[in-house]
Amino acid sequence: MTKDLRVNADRMLASFNQLALIGATAEGGVNRPTFSEAHLAARKWFREEIERSGLEFHTDGAGNHSAILTCQPSNIQTLLLGSHLDSVPDGGRFDGALGVISALEVLRTVKENGIRLNVNLEAIDFTDEEGTLVGLLGSAAIASHLKPEMLQNPRGGRENLVAGMKRAGLSDESMLSAARPKESLAGYLELHIEQGKRLERAGINIGIVSAIVGIWSYRLSFIGRADHAGTTTMEDRLDASLGASSFTLAARELVLKEFPNCVVNVGKMDFAPGAFNIVPARVDVALEFRSPDEEEFKRLNTALLLLANTEATQFGLELKIEFLGKHSPSIMSDVVQKMYADSCEALGLTHVSLTSGAGHDGQSLADLCPTGMIFAPSVEGASHSPREFTKWEDCVNGANVLLQTALRLGM
Ligand SMILES: [Zn+2]
Repeated sequence: MTKDLRVNADRMLASFNQLALIGATAEGGVNRPTFSEAHLAARKWFREEIERSGLEFHTDGAGNHSAILTCQPSNIQTLLLGSHLDSVPDGGRFDGALGVISALEVLRTVKENGIRLNVNLEAIDFTDEEGTLVGLLGSAAIASHLKPEMLQNPRGGRENLVAGMKRAGLSDESMLSAARPKESLAGYLELHIEQGKRLERAGINIGIVSAIVGIWSYRLSFIGRADHAGTTTMEDRLDASLGASSFTLAARELVLKEFPNCVVNVGKMDFAPGAFNIVPARVDVALEFRSPDEEEFKRLNTALLLLANTEATQFGLELKIEFLGKHSPSIMSDVVQKMYADSCEALGLTHVSLTSGAGHDGQSLADLCPTGMIFAPSVEGASHSPREFTKWEDCVNGANVLLQTALRLGM
């Protein structure tokens, strides 16, 4: 009976531990930025592990690496499962790696039990999820979201991208050729660590992601007047730092009180002229806010800009607003969420619906095919750090939910 099927936890652990040695750091994490020596070594290991498992290896123009289990040679539809093997600098062992290893383990389990699904299965390692070079690069390429200009002016710098692609045997042209037709995909499933404390705090086994938040960003400039910091009285100053600081505090209060599903961040303030003895004439504020809901986004946007105006006026300052861009929230498939919930119930695991505050490859795939993510609890919520840890039992629970959901979707 397929409902009694479970992944081989020991085999999965052996693979996970081998992978964690590649790019391992003294602090217990891994350092595998995209197309670094360690990342290329991890990709090579994954390819060999696929072949050792008797699965078919596949790569595309974006450098995505996949294991393929053909169940129906005549069926062109593929159910994708996966995550990423790259890491942030000095990252943890679980981010991305858990999703790739558990996806591979699902394919091995289905294969050794001789189950013939109605779709083919593919366990994929997406290129550059973390954004060393571009961010969500491999998944954006598959989903036709990758545009030539994104390769010309990438966040990691064009030179680094060109050098990295060369090391991996890729090019701009190959990257842009990796798009897949919508009808070729039956869905996308991903297991990831939560990277927050909600599951651990609530003592719940599995988080089922309802949406991946969107991000809007602005540069706000509070503009006053430079004056002598010793001779100008406090009353006479047009101090730009007061507007910027006051806005930062008030934005926190606003989100805490009125937008409980959102977060706001002032990540940077640049002071000009920027000296001990000059009243700040101008402060540029890097503002970012995130929401899982488009309507809420618009309300938060209006409220934050109004607040910035109010705070500027209060201190006699001028306000300049520069919109820097936005990513819309990605809504996960209702059908897949329901299947994840059913799988959890059948496995006797507790589950809760939550949003993802971090970006993931599922964002790229959400408008291409039915997409759904699950989270396993992160101890102390630590992530993007060598302290990142998820109990092995929780990793295995997540892999079994992934397996059972793949079976439900593929039957
Ligand atoms: Zn990740």
